[in-house]
Amino acid sequence: MKRISILPPEIAGKIAAGEVITRPASVVKELVENSLDAGARTISVEVVDGGCRRLRVTDDGCGMWPEEAPLSLLRHATSKLRQDDDLLRLTTMGFRGEALPSIAAIARLELCTRSPDREVGCRLLVAGGAIQEQTPWAGPAGTQVTVSDLFYNTPARRKFLRSQAAEQAHILELLRHLALGYPEVHFLVQAQGRTVLQAPAHRDLRERVGTILGVEWAEVMQPLELALPGLMVRGLASPPDHHLASPRYQFLLVNRRVVSDRLLAGALRQAYQGLLPKGRHPVVLLEVEIAPDQVDVNVHPAKAEVRFKDSGRIYAAVLNAIRQALEPGQRPGRQEFARAWVASPALPAQEARPTALFTDLPPLPSGVETLPPMPATAATTEVNPFPTGSAWRFAELPILGQLQETYILAQAPEGLLIIDQHAAHERVLFEKFSQTTGQSAPRQALLFPITVELEPQAAAWVEEHLNLLHQAGLELEPFGGSTVVVRAVPACLAQQDCATLVAGLIAELAPLAKEQPEEDLVRRRLHLTMACRGAIKAGQPLRPEEIQHLLSQLDELAVSSHCPHGRPLWRLLTLAEIRHNFRRPK
Ligand code: ADP
Ligand code: MG
Repeated sequence: MKRISILPPEIAGKIAAGEVITRPASVVKELVENSLDAGARTISVEVVDGGCRRLRVTDDGCGMWPEEAPLSLLRHATSKLRQDDDLLRLTTMGFRGEALPSIAAIARLELCTRSPDREVGCRLLVAGGAIQEQTPWAGPAGTQVTVSDLFYNTPARRKFLRSQAAEQAHILELLRHLALGYPEVHFLVQAQGRTVLQAPAHRDLRERVGTILGVEWAEVMQPLELALPGLMVRGLASPPDHHLASPRYQFLLVNRRVVSDRLLAGALRQAYQGLLPKGRHPVVLLEVEIAPDQVDVNVHPAKAEVRFKDSGRIYAAVLNAIRQALEPGQRPGRQEFARAWVASPALPAQEARPTALFTDLPPLPSGVETLPPMPATAATTEVNPFPTGSAWRFAELPILGQLQETYILAQAPEGLLIIDQHAAHERVLFEKFSQTTGQSAPRQALLFPITVELEPQAAAWVEEHLNLLHQAGLELEPFGGSTVVVRAVPACLAQQDCATLVAGLIAELAPLAKEQPEEDLVRRRLHLTMACRGAIKAGQPLRPEEIQHLLSQLDELAVSSHCPHGRPLWRLLTLAEIRHNFRRPK
């Protein structure tokens, strides 16, 4: 049995550093966060060999006085926190005073800094956690930190590093996130002497999205904004007809801090539930602003995770904000943005490509340096996909068949009509439900009433909204505890598995209603959800008479171009486009 002894400081330092600094990107994160905390307007980052050989972050922030700069290298030395309860009022990214000492413990570090109110600043050379040299420095106001030979004295960690290209990709990914969180800051990133990201200070988020993700995304993304007491959710969300094969482009920020939060990611997933094809993901930039005492940022060594006090409220707010943004009518005209963008240097020229109707976004290559501009998709280059004044009725068109058991193909006079069966049926159902407002919807009593077990909070919601549910055709009866009995369902949903339908519906609506006290909104949400859950699914084979029935229902609709979530119900591939694809003369 060995005896207990206290570790020498260098070893303790290395161990502690291991928590904060796991790879070159962690160094960049800490240094850039310090620059942001210092009020920098311009931050430049230089990366050599994936950051393993050298990383430099230069800012024009408040700098440090020569007498305080050495302190910054001590553990628990910070200018951002004075007393215990300051932790409840954090508005800075840093607060633990751990980053610089951690980096200094496992790399060689040079710190040059000058405060604008002093003519001379200082330059510190640090190795093995100790200051080796301090000299006066009279460079530009601000701070420049250079980190070389990362992990030179921790071979174990060095072994875990991936290829330099992979580490560089991580750094860029992180900087993209930070840049999206701080559109007003100018970011310049160079790798191996080459500029890989240049984002001048922007007035608003959409401009920044244009620079970071490409102007095509900036144009189509829908603004989202929801303000509640002490809570603000805003950002941009891609519409359902634009998606990617990877969830990598979902940027989550809480009080401007880049986080990877399961709760927020879950709300995001839920918001797009049923709107995107399987395996596809939206592009979302979501910013949550919340009173500092409502969120704990001190739960993760790299501050990548946070904990909310009232997570239910945040979840509902995010879900609501995104859903609202995706509703039709919310869409601003594309033209407006298109004009505003003309001057942008990053603008990739987009020509109208008739073939784009069938072009999907290619999967993003892993480790990309710059996000390739979004190829034109249907929504960006459409050649009037909804010709007005079409003389035909859906039910009269010859049906060609079903594609992938998801789309109905029909022959229109102008070309090939492709109908999204789920979206179309969803619109039909939604209209049916909406028409019943004020009167009761046709319902079908269940021969054998079923009981459904709910969360207590959901059961309480049901009790409060019995009337509303009744009007929509759902006859529910509280059955003690958190159980409800389902006695009747809307006639058009009678074919469904009622227990799953009701449980799913209420689980989705109950958290929302808290933030939407207005009955009309709750009713609309109920109709939307019932329509979505009740509609024919993608991947469902349909008999010819079912297709025929759906098409005649479409003819009855006032709005037959988009589903209630804003997705188009159908697209027309015109004969002209088909001819063009086959290089046939007109
Ligand atoms: P923390 O950010 O948690 O306070 P750090 O170890 O990252 O801890 O930094 C320690 C202190 O050094 C900061 O509180 C700040 O006062 C100072 N500092 C670090 N980087 C900069 C910078 N780029 N500009 C100005 N001051 C800085
Ligand atoms: Mg810091």
